[in-house]
Amino acid sequence: MSKIILEKSKNAFDKAQSFIPGGVNSPVRAFGAVGGTPIFIKSGAGCRLTDVDGNTYVDYVGSWGPLILGHAEPRIVKKIHDAVANGTSYGAPTETEIQLAQLIQEAMPSIERVRMVNSGTEATMSAIRLARGFTRRDAVIKFEGCYHGHVDSLLIQAGSGATTLGTPTSPGIPQDFVKHTISLPYNDIDAVNEVCARRGKEIACIIVEAVAGNMGVVLPKKGYLEGLREITKKHGIVLIFDEVMTGFRVAHGGVQSIYNITPDLTTLGKIIGGGLPVGAYGGKKEIMDSISPVGPVYQAGTLSGNPVAMTAGIATLEILRDSAIYKTLEEKSKRLAAGMEQACRDARVPAYHTRIGSMLCTFFTDRPVTDYATAMKSDTKRYAKFFHGMLERGFYFAPSQFEAVFVSTVHGEKEIDATVDAFRDVIKDF
Ligand SMILES: *Cc1c(COP(=O)(O)O)cnc(C)c1O
Repeated sequence: MSKIILEKSKNAFDKAQSFIPGGVNSPVRAFGAVGGTPIFIKSGAGCRLTDVDGNTYVDYVGSWGPLILGHAEPRIVKKIHDAVANGTSYGAPTETEIQLAQLIQEAMPSIERVRMVNSGTEATMSAIRLARGFTRRDAVIKFEGCYHGHVDSLLIQAGSGATTLGTPTSPGIPQDFVKHTISLPYNDIDAVNEVCARRGKEIACIIVEAVAGNMGVVLPKKGYLEGLREITKKHGIVLIFDEVMTGFRVAHGGVQSIYNITPDLTTLGKIIGGGLPVGAYGGKKEIMDSISPVGPVYQAGTLSGNPVAMTAGIATLEILRDSAIYKTLEEKSKRLAAGMEQACRDARVPAYHTRIGSMLCTFFTDRPVTDYATAMKSDTKRYAKFFHGMLERGFYFAPSQFEAVFVSTVHGEKEIDATVDAFRDVIKDF
């Protein structure tokens, strides 16, 4: 196995650090959890990335979720080109916003009204403010290891990059904010019941990654989501499903369609932007009508509903209306997950595998992963070895154990089988 040459990436990383903190604009990209030099990307096409040194990789990060149709999907690219030619921003309403809103509502009937923003973080931040304004309560319940973007009141015991870098709760968040956030273990309905029995009347909302994807992929236990729905209803608490990652990913209608639960609010991002920066939050009309200009809760954005971004989102969601896509995704993802699972069994490498649709995860641990504490038992040194072994063989996985593997529609059986073969080869030395 020849080592890949990353000379130009190394140079770029050195240079970047003279201008940008840590050389990156989002921490996990710095490879802190796995060591080594982050690869600088030159281009993407289909399921492949090419770096600045000319190496190519089969990509299982997919820009952290948005690229369910792969890189530079020709139909999306064409529509973006056309949209750009008409001007890139007007700061006035366009019909594209209605179209994207309709496509979202069609997939998720719980979303009676929707507001577009520019990122997942903005979506969750706005949803929380709305829930607080609507209920006139301050406290928020979130769950350990769930990540909802870098919102102050949600960056407490957070997953994703926050976990990877060992600062699940960031400095810079005033104690006065922290005191309004109640962080409970994921998948523990008794803990929620207990807190709500005592403090139900103070709690504005419960926000949850209905399927957690930011501590690795962790599935809800049977009855957990139903339990959350029941408790929130009982105490007049707004239930927010953060489907920024899972919306249009695990199913066309997101987690809520699989478990048949109607949250009060849903936050979206990633896939709905088709690779451009879009977030959205929506839900019950009664609640959404508290937002300005209808209601008193203020939220705005210069580039919100940007016509180019809307166009990319529309092009993506129009393609995703075809249910055959999710069937194919399921087959491909199952093939990859099953292949990796069998490889671990054959090599006697302890691992716990989770998957829902085209989101999957291999935790290097010998026990089931059901929450943040059990996820943290994973052998991250082993993950780093896996990561670099795969990278050298031309497969780009997330540079952290606590992230999902994303399969796209353009990953072929050939690439998937090659991935499993490489994986077998890598774990041989574990
Ligand atoms: C990615 C993500 C966010 C944050 O979205 P950004 O666009 O990175 O701000 C929020 N919630 C979940 C569940 C996510 O996966």
